[in-house]
Amino acid sequence: MLKAKNKVGLVFFPAFDWAISPTHPEREERLLYTQDQVFEEGIADLEGIKFYNPGIATEKDIERVHFCVPDVMTRVTQSHLISAGGAIKAAEAVMKKEVDKAFAIVRPPGHHAQRVVFGDRGFCIINIEAVMLENIRQRFGNKKVAIVDTDCHHGDGTQDIYWNDKDTLYISFHQDGRTLYPGTGFIDEFGGPSAIGYNINIPLPPETGEEGFLYVLDNLVIPILKEYKPDLIINSAGQDNHYTDPITNMKFTAHGYAELTHRLNPDIAVLEGGYSIEGALPYVNLGIILAMTGLDYSHVREPDYDPEKLKQSPEITEYIKRLCDEIYNRWLRREDIRRETIKNQQYILRPRSIYYDTDGIHETQIQKFKVCPNCSGVNTIQSRSDWGVEIFAISIPRDACKACIDEGYDLYNQITAGKYYKVYLQDRVNDVFMSK
Ligand SMILES: [Zn+2]
Ligand SMILES: [Zn+2]
Repeated sequence: MLKAKNKVGLVFFPAFDWAISPTHPEREERLLYTQDQVFEEGIADLEGIKFYNPGIATEKDIERVHFCVPDVMTRVTQSHLISAGGAIKAAEAVMKKEVDKAFAIVRPPGHHAQRVVFGDRGFCIINIEAVMLENIRQRFGNKKVAIVDTDCHHGDGTQDIYWNDKDTLYISFHQDGRTLYPGTGFIDEFGGPSAIGYNINIPLPPETGEEGFLYVLDNLVIPILKEYKPDLIINSAGQDNHYTDPITNMKFTAHGYAELTHRLNPDIAVLEGGYSIEGALPYVNLGIILAMTGLDYSHVREPDYDPEKLKQSPEITEYIKRLCDEIYNRWLRREDIRRETIKNQQYILRPRSIYYDTDGIHETQIQKFKVCPNCSGVNTIQSRSDWGVEIFAISIPRDACKACIDEGYDLYNQITAGKYYKVYLQDRVNDVFMSK
């Protein structure tokens, strides 16, 4: 029997009973062909592959990450809890050292779900990677983590959740926001006052091919990861950069995804987007699994693969080189940029406007971060949806000092009931969540 070089845990959750609508791109069949392909290729028979059933994320798991309006159980379905629970199961298997690596092949996806959740955006309601990560931090200690997001869309939800968290480096590869939903993910979105430089966006031009993706990985992402030295690397393994994807414009391949996985060497991968149900997902997932096991993936090819058609233009190659230099230079200057930004400031405001494409909601927010010399600072979100609902959320970060904890509770106690539709307090130091 062929033996995997790394023991790899796999969690499948296709959510066959849940879809936004029957013809929506994020629908039940997404993982059907992948499952068939994985079994046909004999992955299930490899020594070292271990299948896990997903768990179910709890309300508490969600509340460590999100402020759901009005509450978690109103916003999520059972499928969302199992999708996040699948990711948790994968991470847990790695943390307990039952396997070397794990891949959660689950849906619905999560990387567009931000801290405040009024509804569904970009096919996401809860951020499955963040729910997973905060669950394992609670149980296994505060790990320093890099999340590398290789979905074609900017992971604006993950960016928002980890905006001010230096212990979570977020790096997103995506198609330039001027040409694709959600329209964000530019290089000056660089992190909150205590984490400036730890949110890295790599907006790539449409038609970027394998050469471009691997160039970015080798010349930008891996050097930054070497300097950052994370305890864990999580890959938000979206597959919609594939050349057959119906909703994006890239030229990436299954072999490219496998090669990227091999070089990035993530501990945990979690499926995000990817809507080419027959043309891409079965091959990309197979490539990722083989790369994680350490076995040969050179034979993984789509039936219609044509390298000539998939070559990126020399202009794109040049553009990407300059982009990588610029981003790397910003990374090197992050301390200076931070000093400039927080100079003489007690609080930093971050006004935002958010569109929920799936549910048609507009939200406006003001996030307020305390600039604290002793911790990453208590912070608040005042938020209103165009359906007339206004909420106020207070977050005490995991590393909060005594003064910031007290400030958070004082704020919560001072707000009289009735001023807002809902007031929330998320105390990550004591793992407490309350609302009124
Ligand atoms: Zn996507
Ligand atoms: Zn503090």
